[in-house]
Amino acid sequence: MGSYASWEKMPLELFEKIANSLFSSCYFVDLQAFPDVYLPEEIREILKILKKYPLINFHILSSFTHQDKKLWTDILEISPMIGFYIEEYAQESSPQLPRDRVLSPDNRDFIRKFSRLIKEKGFFYFIVNLREKSVFHIKEIMEFAIEAGVSEIQFKTMLIRTLRQDEVKMSSHELDAFLVEKLSLCVELAIENKIRLTIDDQNLISQIGRKKVVQAMKFQNTPFVPPFPLEGALNPEFSTQHNWNSLNKRVSEKSSVAQYGKCFKPFHHIVIDEKARVGPCNFLLDPDIFHLEDFDGREIEELWNSKRIKEFRESLLNSNPSDKRCMWCFKNRFFE
Ligand code: SF4
Repeated sequence: MGSYASWEKMPLELFEKIANSLFSSCYFVDLQAFPDVYLPEEIREILKILKKYPLINFHILSSFTHQDKKLWTDILEISPMIGFYIEEYAQESSPQLPRDRVLSPDNRDFIRKFSRLIKEKGFFYFIVNLREKSVFHIKEIMEFAIEAGVSEIQFKTMLIRTLRQDEVKMSSHELDAFLVEKLSLCVELAIENKIRLTIDDQNLISQIGRKKVVQAMKFQNTPFVPPFPLEGALNPEFSTQHNWNSLNKRVSEKSSVAQYGKCFKPFHHIVIDEKARVGPCNFLLDPDIFHLEDFDGREIEELWNSKRIKEFRESLLNSNPSDKRCMWCFKNRFFE
């Protein structure tokens, strides 16, 4: 089981309660601040809590804020995978930030300063969740990714092609043509510089040229990724009966929602946001969490088997999702 937490504004007390109640049942915890990209103020206290769970793969999404080398060294001990969200910050939740802050000078300075440290201890990558501003900076972001020496760059287009297309003032056809042009260039640059690149949309991949995109997707630059699951994390009896690698392969193959016509993600993930609202998937956070339950200190079994969550899973098993974002996945999401 994995769990996500929108932790930037989550009160420390709530974070600790969630950790105590759920973390011992998790093998993977993605700590992300959405839609902002700050580390929480209490990051040092949080690291102390995370250290109590050495068998969990923690994944930290992002921050350009704290520029403290010791802090980053400690973070990298807990999570060698650091993902940086490259997108405009949402002014409504962080009014102090200018709206057009995509790879600002501060961001660039931070990455330049810390990229060597991060690469020594782990690896880092860019997640480019294309939105109304970042979509116009694709080439610039790619060029900076090369300069910074990232291992991987992931272009996510779901938001801009479903919920936010109106904001770029282009028709669907124009937006597609625009994305194909910009992302084709990125694919060329990724191949030239041996950076792993992924695009989450099958139609765009076809138009760019599948052979090339697959070539860019195949670079493996992640020598520091910890073994998954971490040694000792699985019940020994279970691991002798079930070969993890083949199990993992089968699960990964089934994560192609568009290919299988089913989505299994909410069968192994939940999301908890800063208001303790529980949702089924991290793709269902914008414009708001797909709110199915409330944490309220409840036991994992109760939460996991709640009527509403089970009904939602059933709609995915029956290939009958009602949410626009899920519908997009059923058409376009060929891999995680
Ligand atoms: S289909 Fe829905 S639940 Fe599944 S990955 Fe997509 S957004 Fe998430």
